[in-house]
Amino acid sequence: MESNLNLASICGLFCGSCSLYINTQENNIDKLEVIAKSLNQTLEETFCDGCRAERKSAYCTKNCTFFDCAKERNISFCGECKDYPCQELKDFQTKMPHRLELWSSHERINEVGWEIWMEEMTEHFKCTSCQTLNSAYNVTCRKCGFTPGNNFVLAHNESILRFISSK
Ligand SMILES: [Zn+2]
Repeated sequence: MESNLNLASICGLFCGSCSLYINTQENNIDKLEVIAKSLNQTLEETFCDGCRAERKSAYCTKNCTFFDCAKERNISFCGECKDYPCQELKDFQTKMPHRLELWSSHERINEVGWEIWMEEMTEHFKCTSCQTLNSAYNVTCRKCGFTPGNNFVLAHNESILRFISSK
């Protein structure tokens, strides 16, 4: 994957490892319909090309306050903000396990820049067996079935399993 700023979200998440993004790019309509239903939005509203792209999931446009906030403050990432980390970002970070590495992501973006960070994220979320990019919730690889689906899952296995079973 080439470095693409659209996939570097303001809040510090890597859109390339989001199931909405992955299934949009692979045109997996059946999976997107399941996701759309779970998020209580239409299929059309579920297509996503990333945080800074034209076509963006309603889940991210409706719920996100960081995007507009960053625009007002003329910054590209929350990690550049004088108020970082604000209470809103802290609350956001604790709610779902795919956000567990948010703080280290901002540190890394500040340290080496978003392009290198994105290369690292792309590796981090790849299946170590077949190189398929998996999401933070692909406990096993969606292509080859290898466990874990990626090193992110390996690092946060317990939190992810607990979250999945609570749904
Ligand atoms: Zn695999």
